[in-house]
Amino acid sequence: MRRLLQFVSLDQAMPAKRPAAERRHDFREIYREFDAEHAAGQASRCSQCGIPYCQVHCPLGNNIPDWLMLTAEGRLEEAYEAAAATNNMPEVCGRICPQDRLCEGNCVIEKDFAAVTIGSVEKYIAENAFAQGWVKPPKPTRELRSSVAIIGAGPAGLAAAEQLRRKGYDVHVYDRYDRVGGLLVYGIPNFKLEKQVVARRHELLHAGGVHFHLNVEVGRDVSLEALRRRHDALLIATGVYRARALACPGIGLGNVVAALDYLIASNRKGLGDAVAAFDSGRLNAVGKDVVVIGGGDTAMDCVRTAIRQGARSVRCLYRRDRANMPGSQREVRHAEEEGVEFVWLAAPDALLGDGVVREVRAHRMHLGVRDASGRQVAQILRDSHFELPADLVITALGFEAEDLPHLFDAPELAVTRAGTLEIDFRTMMTSLDGVFAAGDIVRGASLVVWGIRDGRDAAEQMHRYIEAKANAPAAIAAE
Ligand SMILES: Cc1cc2nc3c(=O)[nH]c(=O)nc-3n(C[C@H](O)[C@H](O)[C@H](O)COP(=O)(O)OP(=O)(O)OC[C@H]3O[C@@H](n4cnc5c(N)ncnc54)[C@H](O)[C@@H]3O)c2cc1C
Ligand code: SF4
Repeated sequence: MRRLLQFVSLDQAMPAKRPAAERRHDFREIYREFDAEHAAGQASRCSQCGIPYCQVHCPLGNNIPDWLMLTAEGRLEEAYEAAAATNNMPEVCGRICPQDRLCEGNCVIEKDFAAVTIGSVEKYIAENAFAQGWVKPPKPTRELRSSVAIIGAGPAGLAAAEQLRRKGYDVHVYDRYDRVGGLLVYGIPNFKLEKQVVARRHELLHAGGVHFHLNVEVGRDVSLEALRRRHDALLIATGVYRARALACPGIGLGNVVAALDYLIASNRKGLGDAVAAFDSGRLNAVGKDVVVIGGGDTAMDCVRTAIRQGARSVRCLYRRDRANMPGSQREVRHAEEEGVEFVWLAAPDALLGDGVVREVRAHRMHLGVRDASGRQVAQILRDSHFELPADLVITALGFEAEDLPHLFDAPELAVTRAGTLEIDFRTMMTSLDGVFAAGDIVRGASLVVWGIRDGRDAAEQMHRYIEAKANAPAAIAAE
């Protein structure tokens, strides 16, 4: 058993990272696992402070100091129970949460000593629990007669499915993809999250009695109205998939592709699927000069995928500077180590080519005065043009909501100006009675951990709604 508060004598240490020269050539995760000794050591650095800011800044409110203490003391089954009590996928969040902006970025010892490696310990606790057989399918103590439908098998939908199944509902998840996981499978590359980690959760939910209806697109194969008639409550957790368009001359040239098309092709290839657009070379970076436009997590995933596919050169063009990019700084460091060149303060002016893109003409930017949101406005520097060779351009400018009222043939489904679903934030219900919403389709493009949080909250609200409805006639008759 270890004493806590060891941060004064024990340095921060992440699990070993595979050398860049090695990981450039494969899609395996880049970090190795902690062993029990290192996990306990790093957990023992926790200062057990009175107000745990890590917990406050974790969207799930994870009881981080508790599970760090239990890990330091070698009480690993209890540590897993504590971690799983608030998080349906600790093994996923431990891997891909931007911890530098969330829990670890707010660790109290971070100021003078480096933060506790919370994410890596969380991953260790969960992986160890899987290895020991402590992670069980969700089995309710009693079956309820009500059924619920969940549209979307991403993190929000899966978290809601587990919570509702635990309560005893007959849970049906509908997804237009052929695999469970949403962006965990088709967006996020293997080097951040290996696919069997997601498949393992799918198997557990399936074993626990959750019904998955894959290759079913709501709005095409089944209507929203039909699902409303079939189930007692419904959750929309469909994410956001409409790529923001780049507006500049040459955008219609060949080999100018959207980030998600590119990443889906790469992920499908890794899963062993036949992908014609990859085999034809259109969505394959091998031997090419690649320019990725954007500075978020999606852009980081594209540049690092292109490196692994064997691109000749990979550049990331972003109109702001490093300090002002939306992507995680940790990801930028990984990308740089792997050979990506970042062209900061630069924006595309035109894509040049003859049928197929050959060059990106860009101009330099500078950051001017702050706007109402407090962000410095990026402005063009006159006469600052330069050209970059490019025979594959990937646009990664973010995502917007699809037109769900139209797709679902439900004009009365209220949306915000951004096209995301409007919900009552207390009940998480949309403008349609008994129809709830969670995840990116409510928040706009966000994070896995927020999707899980919303899925859990929505499950609770759906449960209350169904119970209230079931009890209503009895209550009225009793009056
Ligand atoms: C490339 C990329 C990298 C990312 N990296 C990170 C990261 O490192 N860390 C992080 O925390 N977040 C990351 N994110 C964000 C994160 O993936 C999302 O915030 C999260 O997946 C949202 O969860 P969700 O359940 O709301 O939606 P999604 O994961 O998008 O799942 C929605 C599901 O709904 C299904 N669906 C949609 N429409 C229909 C329909 N009509 N009928 C049936 N099914 C439908 C889809 O097929 C999909 O399976 C990344 C996103 C992208 C694009
Ligand atoms: S879920 Fe994410 S933010 Fe919360 S403790 Fe885990 S890694 Fe940190």
